[in-house]
Amino acid sequence: MRIDLHTHSNASDGTDNPAQVMVDAARAGLDVVALTDHDTTAGWDEAAQSAAEVGITLVRGTEISTRSRGISVHMLSYLHDPEDAELAERNEVARSAREQRARTMVDLVGRDFPVTWADVVAQTKPGTVIGRPHVADALVAAGVVADRSEAFLSVLTADSRYYVPHLAPNTTDVVRSILGAGGVPVFAHPGADQRGRVVPDETIAELAAAGLAGLEVEHRDNSPQQQERLTRLAKELGLFITGSSDYHGTGKPNRLGENLTSPEVFEEIEARGRLAVLRP
Ligand code: AMP
Ligand code: FE
Ligand code: FE
Ligand code: ZN
Repeated sequence: MRIDLHTHSNASDGTDNPAQVMVDAARAGLDVVALTDHDTTAGWDEAAQSAAEVGITLVRGTEISTRSRGISVHMLSYLHDPEDAELAERNEVARSAREQRARTMVDLVGRDFPVTWADVVAQTKPGTVIGRPHVADALVAAGVVADRSEAFLSVLTADSRYYVPHLAPNTTDVVRSILGAGGVPVFAHPGADQRGRVVPDETIAELAAAGLAGLEVEHRDNSPQQQERLTRLAKELGLFITGSSDYHGTGKPNRLGENLTSPEVFEEIEARGRLAVLRP
C-alpha cells in the first residue's frame, strides 16, 4: 500500500483543484491520500467525489498554523468532525486573520513592486485561504520573480521588510481542540530548520503529554539529522511516525508519494479518528 498523508489543493496554497489532486494521486500509484489544506476543509467534498471516481482512498484532514513560544508549528489534524464548533471557529478566525495579514503584506510589497490586492486575488479562486504563496504568484505574474521558490527566497522571506507574521493560536491549545473534535493530531515537518527555528525536545514531550499522536518524520524539509532525532523522540514518547509529500501542485517541487506512511500507522489513524476514511 502506498499512503501519502499530506497534500494541498487550491482551497489553500496548492495549485490544483481538489479533484485534480485525487486524479494525480491515483496516477502516482497511491492507494491512500490525505487532503490537508491550510486552515480549511473547503476542498473535502470535491476531493471525496473525485477519490471515489478514480478509485483511491481519501483521508480528510487540515493543516493548522499554530505557534509555540514564538516558533511556528504546523499541526496536521486527521479525521476530525468539521462541524465541531471550537475547531471550526479556530479555523474561521485563522482564515480571516490570514486575509488581513496578506492585505497588509501586499500593501507593503506594492510600495516597491507592481502588485495590488486585486492582482493577488486574481491568482486564486473564490474562498481560497490566501497566504504568501499567492502573493508570490502575483509577483511571478508581474515578472518580478520566476517562480514561487524565488519569491520565498527574496521578497517574501520571513526576515524581509515586507513580511508580516500572522496570528496563530498556541500549539497545545490546538492539539486539545483537535482531540475534542475527534481528530488525530500529527506534528507536520517538525524538523524543518531551513524555514526558521524548530521546537526543542521538551516542547514535543509537552505536546505528547497533551495528546499529540504522531510526528511527520519522513518529509523533505526534515534533514537526515533531524529525522534521526525525531525518530528517537517518537520512540521515547510513544508517538507514531508518518511520511508524506506535502504536495502543492506546481507550487513546490514536492512530488506525490515521495515519502510514504506505513499501513500500520494508517490503521491507527483510522481507528483513532472520528470521521470515516472514505474508500472507493
Ligand atoms: P504563509 O503561511 O502565508 O506565511 O506561507 C507559508 C506557506 O508557503 C507554507 O505553508 C508553504 O506551503 C508555502 N511555502 C513555503 N516555502 C515555499 C517555497 N519555497 N515555495 C513555495 N511555497 C512555499
Ligand atoms: Fe502550504
Ligand atoms: Fe506545513
Ligand atoms: Zn503542508
